[in-house]
Amino acid sequence: MRILILGGIREASTLATKLVQEGHDVTTSLAGRTKEPKPLKGKVRTGGFGGIEGLANYLEEHTVDLLIDCTHPFAKQISANALEASRRSGIKLEIHTRKPWKHQQGDQWKEVSSLEQARDEIPKNARVLLALGSQYIDLFKTREDVFYLVRMVDAPEKELPLPHHSLLLGKPFANWQDEMEVLKANKITHIVCRNSGGKGAYAKIEAARHLELPIIMVSQ
Ligand code: NAP
Repeated sequence: MRILILGGIREASTLATKLVQEGHDVTTSLAGRTKEPKPLKGKVRTGGFGGIEGLANYLEEHTVDLLIDCTHPFAKQISANALEASRRSGIKLEIHTRKPWKHQQGDQWKEVSSLEQARDEIPKNARVLLALGSQYIDLFKTREDVFYLVRMVDAPEKELPLPHHSLLLGKPFANWQDEMEVLKANKITHIVCRNSGGKGAYAKIEAARHLELPIIMVSQ
């Protein structure tokens, strides 16, 4: 089959490898947010399609048999576009959605429904690990009392607008012991993150559990 995977997360890369091994003609589509994405099995295309119509046209022009949405759970726009483009073009859509993390005994989560709420929940003078995409950082700048340790995959192109912060570049550590060292070394008192599910970013949740550290968690 000719398959188009809407990707951008680890699970999409694993899926591409599996489908290529099975003999399918696989293309993974990336939005182009990461400067140097890891190599993927099969073909890769990069950049937006130009909305629903652009995606529907792409599916038809490239005679795609199956569209797979394997995007990040907070990438809501592209998922909505995929649904509608599939409906319009008649091309089958498979949705591979990550399940959110479940609260476990020992977790101290304050669940909120927006980033604005997350910002307002940060206690005064806290030291926060901010584990969000770079595009969501701006609204935290109004909290001048807070120190932020900002985790990012790529270095920002311009200086972050946050008054007190330092950068933690690269992907999260895979094990909680390493994450715990980061939290301790930076005297972090709170974590702000979104409930993205999956394994890649879970070690910080386990580290927080071991340290009895509160997490302000934005729900899906
Ligand atoms: P979004 O808000 O849902 O999408 C915004 C626009 O970006 C879409 O309308 C589309 O442009 C383009 N786009 C998004 N994903 C694309 C893809 N896989 N291939 C081609 N174009 C894509 O998405 P986002 O939150 O900016 O996330 C972008 C990508 O990064 C996704 O693929 C997602 O899996 C990955 N990612 C996102 C997050 C996150 O926190 N949101 C975290 C890790 C990875 P057009 O309308 O022009 O087609």
